[in-house]
Amino acid sequence: MAREYACKKCKAITIGKVCPICKSTELSPNWSGIILIFDAEKSLIATTLDIKKAHKYALKVA
Ligand SMILES: [Zn+2]
Repeated sequence: MAREYACKKCKAITIGKVCPICKSTELSPNWSGIILIFDAEKSLIATTLDIKKAHKYALKVA
C-alpha cells in the first residue's frame, strides 16, 4: 500500500509529492486522524477548520 502524506499547510492527504489542494511540497508522513469533506461550503467542520475544497484531510500533522 502506498504511503500517504499530509500537507503541512492545509492538511490535505495525498500519495503524491505535491499537495493537490494548495500545491505545497511540504508534506509530512507523520499525521493522524482523517476528516472527509464532501461539501466544503455546507460543512460545519470544513468552515471550522478553514477547509475550502472537498478532499480527505488529516486531523493532526506533525
Ligand atoms: Zn496543502
